[in-house]
Amino acid sequence: MLKDHILVWKNCLNIIRKSIDSQPYKTWFEPIRPIKLSGEILTIQVPNKFFYEWLEEHYVDVLRKAIKGELGTNGNLEYQIMVEDHRDIQARAKTSSTPKGAQEDNLVINPFVIPGIKKVRIDNQLNPAYTFDNFVNGECNRFPGSAGMAIAKRPAGTAFNPLVIYGDVGLGKTHLSQAIGNEIMTNFADKQVLYITTEKFTNQVIQAIKNSSVNDFMHFYQMIDVLIVDDIQFLSGRSKTQEIFFNIFNQLHQSGKQIILTSDRSPKDLTDVDERLISRFKWGLVADLKAPDFDTRLKILDKKLEKDNMTLPDEIKEYICAHIKNNIRELEGVVISIVAQATLNKRLIDLKLVKEVVKQFVSQVDKEISVENIKTLVANYFDVPVEKLHSKTRLRDVVIARQLSMYLAKKYTTSSLKKIGDSFGGRDHSTVIHSLKTIEDMIDTDKVFKDKVNVLLKKVKTSFALD
Ligand code: ADP
Ligand code: MG
Repeated sequence: MLKDHILVWKNCLNIIRKSIDSQPYKTWFEPIRPIKLSGEILTIQVPNKFFYEWLEEHYVDVLRKAIKGELGTNGNLEYQIMVEDHRDIQARAKTSSTPKGAQEDNLVINPFVIPGIKKVRIDNQLNPAYTFDNFVNGECNRFPGSAGMAIAKRPAGTAFNPLVIYGDVGLGKTHLSQAIGNEIMTNFADKQVLYITTEKFTNQVIQAIKNSSVNDFMHFYQMIDVLIVDDIQFLSGRSKTQEIFFNIFNQLHQSGKQIILTSDRSPKDLTDVDERLISRFKWGLVADLKAPDFDTRLKILDKKLEKDNMTLPDEIKEYICAHIKNNIRELEGVVISIVAQATLNKRLIDLKLVKEVVKQFVSQVDKEISVENIKTLVANYFDVPVEKLHSKTRLRDVVIARQLSMYLAKKYTTSSLKKIGDSFGGRDHSTVIHSLKTIEDMIDTDKVFKDKVNVLLKKVKTSFALD
């Protein structure tokens, strides 16, 4: 019996349905209509160009598997794009990455008014594992966390629009921003949420420009009720992406849609980003995620252990949390490693094993804090060779660097004044006292100097992972 397009597509759908979740299946596959079968080429109709690009980007493998399974290794797929005025447009796209060249852009009037299909659901791209339930609250995230919760209850109904969450790597920006998205999906099933990284957004812009489909692209974003853009610091230097994002931002904001952004730094510290964008980022709420304190780290660790059905003695948990301070991802990494060591190598989880594991994670940042390490850090900061700190030179920069090193050594190590003096070319303890006094006076009287010292203090803290 000759196969017909309807049957072939029906069989393909059976295969596809088994390999993807039901929500994306509904969104991206149910609206497709089989049109014809010529030899080994099946033609399907999709509502618009963005649709087929999305399919090709996200589902090319499942599609290929289904088509080849049904039509053999030469099986191929051809898309037909439906437009408002019922003119059918062919976009010859194989289920591979052949150029998605379609020259019909000038014909696509409004690709999102689709006869027969009231509303296209968008695959929100959220990771369901990032929820508020498994986001541990602490002082470090109280502010952005509660703002996020408020937004999840009333998207675009609070003053927090946009919400900009910023903080260092591994502190929960992606988790929190997606938790808000997931919570909104639970509270308002009909809202269109989209999570996208700035990288991906940029690639879409580049693709849209290449295909002259910027208008389609912008239209697509207008359908979104809650837009979450992760890591906007990567907008830096990308002026075309910024321009398009600026327009999308304005349109969404004006039509009362919620925008959530994350960044590794505060908007005012973004570099090479257009001022008008930065000023918009400050319209709503800018809230930072701080490094968690010891107790919060313990709670997070417990949560991760609970997930793996694991328990550890308090002593071991405390050791981990005392050493992994500035990055929650590393905390998870330690748990994963310990579990792996214990199960794969059948080793008993004791403090010795844990110390080995922790060392792998902290060795890059958590150098031991010592007079020598402080000297190196300060010398690098002032761009003077370390040996110069030992010398008798009176060059101002060197003197300041030497005195500051002594000051930090006193502040952060347990070394005695005598020992500190010894490490700076055998100076006596009264010289050290004099240096400390000089630095304290300068901090009190010279604002510029004080700022410099604060920068250095911060450097010391992050380099040696101190609280
Ligand atoms: P970022 O995007 O800021 O680099 P992520 O959101 O990717 O950080 O977080 C890193 C890891 O730490 C993730 O696996 C996340 O689940 C976890 N994490 C971050 N913050 C918390 C928290 N408050 N409670 C529980 N897990 C957290
Ligand atoms: Mg992230």
